[in-house]
Amino acid sequence: MIPFANTYARLPERFYARLAPTPVAAPRLVRLNTALAAQLGLDPDDLTADVLSGNLVPEGAEPMALAYAGHQFGNFVPQLGDGRANLLGEVAGRDIQLKGAGRTPFSRGGDGRAALGPVLREYLISEAMHALGVPTTRALAAVTTGEPVARETMLPGAIVTRVASSHIRVGTFQYFAARQDTDGVRALADYAIARHYPDVSGYKAFLEAVIARQAELIARWLLIGFIHGVMNTDNCSIAGETIDYGPCAFMDAYDPATVFSSIDRQGRYAYGNQPRIAVWNLARLAETLLPLLADDDDQAVAIAQETLSGFGRTFEAAYFGGLRRKIGLSVERDGDNALAQDLLTAMAKNQADFTLTFRGLCNAAVKPERDAAVRDLFVDPSAYDAWAARWRQRMAFAFETPEARRDAMRAVNPAYIPRNHNVEAALNAAIENDDFGPFEALLTVLSRPFDDQPGFARYAAPPAPSERVHQTFCGT
Ligand code: AMP
Ligand code: MG
Repeated sequence: MIPFANTYARLPERFYARLAPTPVAAPRLVRLNTALAAQLGLDPDDLTADVLSGNLVPEGAEPMALAYAGHQFGNFVPQLGDGRANLLGEVAGRDIQLKGAGRTPFSRGGDGRAALGPVLREYLISEAMHALGVPTTRALAAVTTGEPVARETMLPGAIVTRVASSHIRVGTFQYFAARQDTDGVRALADYAIARHYPDVSGYKAFLEAVIARQAELIARWLLIGFIHGVMNTDNCSIAGETIDYGPCAFMDAYDPATVFSSIDRQGRYAYGNQPRIAVWNLARLAETLLPLLADDDDQAVAIAQETLSGFGRTFEAAYFGGLRRKIGLSVERDGDNALAQDLLTAMAKNQADFTLTFRGLCNAAVKPERDAAVRDLFVDPSAYDAWAARWRQRMAFAFETPEARRDAMRAVNPAYIPRNHNVEAALNAAIENDDFGPFEALLTVLSRPFDDQPGFARYAAPPAPSERVHQTFCGT
């Protein structure tokens, strides 16, 4: 038996629509995350293809689609909601949601389904993010439905079981605020505080805490070269987790202007814009909370603005602290941030691979003769040499041994990220040939991203020019 709790179902009925998932023709379990199941205290025998496809609603579940709104690429949509997701309930405090579970009252024109490619993509990248130490929703299972879905072509249908601290988004607050439903906003805020921020008291402190988690999250994204791709307010989690893996991607060569998503034509969600966009999204959250922040409107706005200004401090501390650790400087000295920034500038000018440059620095920190592997990543290797000379001078001022520094660096500079060309190859093998071998191999290597895995060395390499992926698609 699955030990469901259903705290969201105790919120007012206008927060969701109760309905069961729509059954599918021939569910087949293609991936079960047994480690995550164990963490949640779930018995794998309870996690059958029937349960994970929605064909069998397990005892104790109270299935529902959640209401939310959101700004999509800056345009407000007062009603989005779970158009293809079904929340079964909570286990160990975490939401268990079937994504791709059929039409709901929020589906608008959509079919309520998901294709196998995007399902495996979410599985792979969310699990990789978790292994990289980034707060994220998790993937418990993937099933194929035995039904085709119509996208640009007919594709195999699938459902991913998503595990999240919750599915409350900035857009959930916007849903009630847009309806002038201050009681709804308050009930949601009280629920979110109890569930995610039990130590804060008051709505200002709540806003502050959400802002801090978001600032730390975005810093972590930047530090591993992650581009979310659709930072709409409905994809911004109040719990501070990365959520909704659509056209997301990791950079190969470092360039802050990098955009992969085919629908992001203006580059609104480019790698380097992510902090700014997070602030914009959080400002939308702050607006929904104004009636709770103070009785007087002007005073409420002043409180919101003051609180939003905290993003910059938290973000910069997390980002520059992380950058310093990436180049092996555990204790900050004057000039360190500029030194780190200058490396990034040289990398951008020279199309240096983000992941390999930092990973290469780990060895170079011990043995200057290992510089060769790093300098070769730069179009003009002398740009690296000039920087490395300054870096070595700075490292002479530290206490730790070179080996200790290298080990600390290796723990924050991954060897393996889900590179787009490897992800595509793994998805294509599954979609076209029903071959899940490459998907499993990639999951295995990405489960230990900070360890050298000699048998998997090819997954560390950037794409050959012919393998390069220029665009990613959300596939909804
Ligand atoms: P997403 O791009 O996944 O963040 O989804 C944005 C909105 O579109 C959400 O309200 C989704 O529920 C909805 N949506 C996405 N794909 C579908 C689909 N195939 N059927 C119905 N609704 C969908
Ligand atoms: Mg979404």
